[in-house]
Amino acid sequence: MKKVHVFNAGPCLLPETVINNAAAALKDFKGTGISVLSVSHRTKEWEETMNECRALWKELLHIPDTHEVVFLGGGASLQFLYVAMNFLEKKAAYLDTGVWAHKALKEAQGLGEAYAIACSKDKNYNYIPKGYDIPADLDYLHITTNNTIYGTEIREDMDCPVPLIADMSSDIMSRPVDVSKYTLIYGGAQKNVGPAGVIFAIIRKDALGKVSRYLPTMLDYRTHIDKESMFNTPPVFSIYIMNETLKWIKSMGGVEAMERIDREKADTLYAEIDRNSLFVGTAAKEDRSRMNVCFVMAPGYESLQDEFLTFAKERGMVGIKGHRSVGGFRASLYNACTLDDVQALVDCMREFETLKK
Ligand SMILES: *Cc1c(COP(=O)(O)O)cnc(C)c1O
Repeated sequence: MKKVHVFNAGPCLLPETVINNAAAALKDFKGTGISVLSVSHRTKEWEETMNECRALWKELLHIPDTHEVVFLGGGASLQFLYVAMNFLEKKAAYLDTGVWAHKALKEAQGLGEAYAIACSKDKNYNYIPKGYDIPADLDYLHITTNNTIYGTEIREDMDCPVPLIADMSSDIMSRPVDVSKYTLIYGGAQKNVGPAGVIFAIIRKDALGKVSRYLPTMLDYRTHIDKESMFNTPPVFSIYIMNETLKWIKSMGGVEAMERIDREKADTLYAEIDRNSLFVGTAAKEDRSRMNVCFVMAPGYESLQDEFLTFAKERGMVGIKGHRSVGGFRASLYNACTLDDVQALVDCMREFETLKK
């Protein structure tokens, strides 16, 4: 196979061992003689995998007993609705830091009073707003810890006077998280912990059951906590691969090790962006994401954009074209991306600079 360096924004690159184990399980799941695609989710073998996956989430993120983790379908986008359904009674605030945050807000507005407490749209979402006041009477404050499209990130677990809810789709398992500070943490698995088709939700149990609206069975987190994510047929193959990915994270040294490696990868690439006269970063430096690194051609070199994309592609770089709302380039450095991959991109940027200057 051709040597490629994958920087896709999602679905993400997955470790080779994960892919190999998934390929084997497609043929024979745990020696049962049947494919993981056909195994009944009511068997002992499957329940073991489900339990292992739940236990790994708790172990890796040090989830306290006050919280439970569930795995569901529908994508992070359906979680926008779950959030409002389960927690919005009178009023909620959203930190509007990008397209995903905005979509979450819009979904809540369909059910009740929700507003943007601060917004960074004035500068095309290239920074995280700071210094806003959080009223004490909110049902919750919703934040998006990593803004996948714009490459900004909130890496501190803030002290929040009201229940804090976070979409961590694209930076979960990239650092230790103080779960006790959150009422809910959710996200799609496909950015950093698995394939598409499954979401994780880490829920503070005693925060549920406080809204007066009718909750459809499937949209009530309590249903899925009670039935251990098996109220209906779970996305078996996606959960299988997520579990393999968690096993890999554990074998690498857990989220503490991931944080070290992710920092090194991001620092390496940002250092090159700041050094290389052909490129500039788009996100405010203090808010730069370790997961999604966004950059564009420096002023005066804009016309070289397509040429660099072709140049990089010829050298095996995959998925570095920026999102259309930012333009330029975006390299997503999720956990399975290695320092070697990042170094290959850096070399490519240097080579291009030498060629053009
Ligand atoms: C990708 C993404 C989503 C949407 O996820 P889906 O599973 O496709 O619905 C939501 N929030 C963030 C931060 C994302 O990066």
